[in-house]
Amino acid sequence: MSTNNTTTSAYTDFHLQFIAGEWQTGKDDSSNTNTNPYNGDTLVEIQQATKDQLNEAYDAASQTQEAWAKQTPATRAAVLYKVVNILDQRQEEIVDWLIKESGSTRIKAMVEFSATRAITLEAATFPNRVHGEIRPSNTPGKENFIYREPIGVVAVISPWNFPLHLTQRSIAPALALGNAVVLKPASDTPVTGGLLLAKVFEEAGLPKGLLNVVVGSGSEIGDAIVEHKAPSLVSFTGSTSVGKHIGELANGGEYIKQVALELGGNSPFVVLKDADIEQAVKAAAFGKFLHQGQICIAINRVIVEDEIYDDFVERFLAHVKTLNVGDPNKQDTAVGPIINAKQVKSLKEKIAKAQEEGAKMILSGEIQGQVVPPHIFTEVTREMDLSRNEVFGPLVGIIRAKDEDDALSIANDSMYGLSSAVFTADMQKGLRFARGIRAGMTHINDISVNDESNTPFGGEKNSGIGRFNGEWVLEEFTRTHWISMQNEPREYPF
Ligand code: NAD
Repeated sequence: MSTNNTTTSAYTDFHLQFIAGEWQTGKDDSSNTNTNPYNGDTLVEIQQATKDQLNEAYDAASQTQEAWAKQTPATRAAVLYKVVNILDQRQEEIVDWLIKESGSTRIKAMVEFSATRAITLEAATFPNRVHGEIRPSNTPGKENFIYREPIGVVAVISPWNFPLHLTQRSIAPALALGNAVVLKPASDTPVTGGLLLAKVFEEAGLPKGLLNVVVGSGSEIGDAIVEHKAPSLVSFTGSTSVGKHIGELANGGEYIKQVALELGGNSPFVVLKDADIEQAVKAAAFGKFLHQGQICIAINRVIVEDEIYDDFVERFLAHVKTLNVGDPNKQDTAVGPIINAKQVKSLKEKIAKAQEEGAKMILSGEIQGQVVPPHIFTEVTREMDLSRNEVFGPLVGIIRAKDEDDALSIANDSMYGLSSAVFTADMQKGLRFARGIRAGMTHINDISVNDESNTPFGGEKNSGIGRFNGEWVLEEFTRTHWISMQNEPREYPF
């Protein structure tokens, strides 16, 4: 699939911002020190952007978007295909950045790289897939045309956990469909969440001004990026609390704009009594501990039917004890570092709270630097903090369900509704159970962590608004325009 081109020289100068097609120094007084979460090494120091630089980015996006939208579909598709080639050539360089900047294990970095490649390839088909409609009219002599047009300028705000993929799944479709983008990556991942992709698109020949990456503090540009007049759509991926704030800003200010909100999750992973326990154990470990549990669709609650609870717990504990914890760069490391010290502190508080609330900690370990080893809690109830809130770390609670109905009731007892999973030997039962879950995504006999570029990704309830991938994102990043044509004089009542 991919080749490594050793003659390609690595990208440099990540201390600069990509605004209006130029690599510029940030003009704010503050700087962002980008560090490796495993060993604390400084990777790059970035002078942050000011509001004026954000305005410059929006001006460039607004000025270049219409000409880009008028390019032929083949021209826009060609840029996206070129991006795929460059990703392939630079796979090792990109994987290396994901490891050192976001604390990804090698396994996770490869998962993320593949997902990024897949959505880019999918987006390359969008310029030729977008189409309008002709609808009948009840008015004699009228024809109804429904045009699908680019939405214009799109603001993208992305998180640090899958920075490359979660940025690319917004910017690749947006650009493919004839829009321009102003992107603010997360402060922990300015390179993999933005600057690196800007280098790739620049190398692929994307015209200047269409993609802008602005690295700045939340207080200087956080609200301004949403409130600015230019964007017609704000594509936000991050926590529910910040997402609510973005939603209010986008619709409570001077200019109303559309929002696509991909927010937090609390995925249930249900093991029914007839399940293949060994397979469920392996799935639970991977779906929980991949990227240290810092995934919106990571397993957050393991719910096991009473009859097999003890057996499952025993086998899960034995399996999790075999996982290698530590240096993310090592091939066989399963659990690497947590993104930052603030998140480590929040996990320590969650461990203490779980014990206070009466959960039984059957596996723990010493927290070293930002590496938190797996922690397993049993006899967890649906009321406990571990069940109610998104953990975003390598801690897991296992809840006992009386029976299938009880398992479904526990699974649905959450203000989130992003992903979910159920294990059973009976596919009909699995399908019935899956359809009973109020979530955007449910996987039978697999983990909750799944993302395919051609299937709808998104959530219900407090997990957000909108869907990514395939036709769904194609709609999200375009606008519809009804144009009617009255071909013969119409009779008006007066
Ligand atoms: P976060 O909400 O703290 O930050 C997300 C982004 O918003 C970052 O770029 C941040 O700098 C920016 N931001 C923060 N305050 C802002 C403001 N006032 N105005 C504008 N931008 C602002 O989330 P995070 O900690 O980066 O990511 C973890 C969270 O994201 C988890 O809750 C996780 O579930 C969620 N997430 C959801 C999905 C999904 O697809 N549903 C995917 C990944 C992560």
